[in-house]
Amino acid sequence: MILPNTTQCFCSSGLNYAHCCEPLHIGSQQAANPEQLMRSRYSAYVTKNAKYVYHTYASEKKTENPIKEIKDFANSCRFVGLDVVSTNHDDSQGSVEFKAHYFYQNLYCELHEHSRFIKEDDKWRYIDGTILPVADIKVSRNDNCPCGSGKKYKKCHSV
Ligand SMILES: [Zn+2]
Ligand SMILES: [Zn+2]
Repeated sequence: MILPNTTQCFCSSGLNYAHCCEPLHIGSQQAANPEQLMRSRYSAYVTKNAKYVYHTYASEKKTENPIKEIKDFANSCRFVGLDVVSTNHDDSQGSVEFKAHYFYQNLYCELHEHSRFIKEDDKWRYIDGTILPVADIKVSRNDNCPCGSGKKYKKCHSV
């Protein structure tokens, strides 16, 4: 995907993509902490960069998260935004609590997760997370879009 370097980053950081997640996606930079890695993984889902999502799993988790499944999930969702709630880490492990918002079919979904990260070969990697249950919201064509745009769903995030 070729993007102008003024594109706002997909991870909702408010920074330009070129100064946020892109250097991680192209491999010119490594995530400095779990939050950066988590943001870059979210952005990779948005840009359907399944390979990046796969490669940033901890090695023990790679086989249970094949690229095809990552790709299928990314392709089935319309992503809206990310909120990082809290994060902390030491030299070798860390955690991030976040809320990711997306549409799946005509459902508005929130993934609220406590993620765990470790350092492998000096690189931050995602292990797994605990998902906190959040009810999906069913959206009809004439509803106001839950993304907050102020538009009707049918003129906004509808399929
Ligand atoms: Zn970003
Ligand atoms: Zn919308």
